[in-house]
Amino acid sequence: MSLISAYSPLPVSFERGEGIWLWDGKNKEPYLDALTGIAVCGLGHAHPEITKAICDQASKLIHTSNVYQIELQTELAAKLTALSGMEQAFFSNSGAEANEAAIKLARAYGHQREINHPHIVVLEGAFHGRTLATLTATANRKGQAGYEPLVSGFIRAPFNDSESIKNMAHHNNEIVAVMLEPIQGEGGIHLPPSDYLKKIRELCDQNNWLMILDEVQTGNGRTGSYFNYQQHGILPDIVTTAKGLGNGYPIGVCLMRGKACNLFQPGNHGSTFGGSPLASRVGLTVIDIIEKNNLCKNAADMGQRLIKNLKEALSNNTHVQDIRGQGLMIGIELDKPCRDLMKIGLDQKILFNVTADKVIRLLPPLNITGEQVDQIVERLKKCIELFYQ
Ligand SMILES: *Cc1c(COP(=O)(O)O)cnc(C)c1O
Repeated sequence: MSLISAYSPLPVSFERGEGIWLWDGKNKEPYLDALTGIAVCGLGHAHPEITKAICDQASKLIHTSNVYQIELQTELAAKLTALSGMEQAFFSNSGAEANEAAIKLARAYGHQREINHPHIVVLEGAFHGRTLATLTATANRKGQAGYEPLVSGFIRAPFNDSESIKNMAHHNNEIVAVMLEPIQGEGGIHLPPSDYLKKIRELCDQNNWLMILDEVQTGNGRTGSYFNYQQHGILPDIVTTAKGLGNGYPIGVCLMRGKACNLFQPGNHGSTFGGSPLASRVGLTVIDIIEKNNLCKNAADMGQRLIKNLKEALSNNTHVQDIRGQGLMIGIELDKPCRDLMKIGLDQKILFNVTADKVIRLLPPLNITGEQVDQIVERLKKCIELFYQ
């Protein structure tokens, strides 16, 4: 044995991909990938323009470190700040690291205001990563157990309950930020009511807190706009993203504006790999492809079609409790734990995963076609029928 046993992978490995399809090297028939490496390969596998950008950049320059200026990093920062309405960018290699940066910014912001033990409000059902601080912010006792002591300075509020956070403000004058996902991903695809983010924004404004949005999963076109908050008419003070920004190349970013800017000073935060010429080139290419091909709109349109057709196809199935989502981030909640469905999916040549025990999660590529949407519905329907046989 040579690998940790934390992953327990399914009995399949892939050797080649193209768009929404993956081949395992044994079967001729490919698998329909409705998970895309957990919202990572939003442009599909082996996208020719990404491959070309990686090969071209790798043949010129991969890494120099942040000891020197990196023009491609500056270019990507300009692109992302323009897209998001933010002002500054810090590049990392993963979502958790982007969130770590956001957490450190919130603390620095607190100390600047002479709050010596700053608190960050986080939500029930949240997922922010697996480093010690982001694990503490995450609401998963199973993930946390055995790793205590956790990091102090986090307080938890119920999901979708802005009143409870308002009440916290009355009892706690050390709160400096609220950190949340605009749609909870790992927690089971939970969408807040349409005015929730606005209410959190108002609370943050009234109390001088930073609003931190974790768009690691929802960002980069996934929900039908580049960032999800753009559909809510608000701007956070800090937004993080990662997953879909590199289409499989590791990259993350923490974007900030206004009072969240200039809190990092020379020497007090950094990353060796973050924002390398290669990572930045890939990020720029991903954004270019999303814009050029109107993929945010395609995600919105195809997502609507997928939800509508799933609802129709599964309307007679009494085990299906709910079908919900936005853009191409969709959950189907069943009436019992259903991890075994993923194995049935392998037989039916469709890839998805199960989160929060009984929610089938679909995160297909943003450039999916209508015909492929219909194939997802057909195969998934079959899987669910087999599961309950
Ligand atoms: C995946 C995810 C993370 C963690 O990202 P890593 O790249 O695995 O560190 C953080 N927040 C959200 C919302 C995520 O979905």
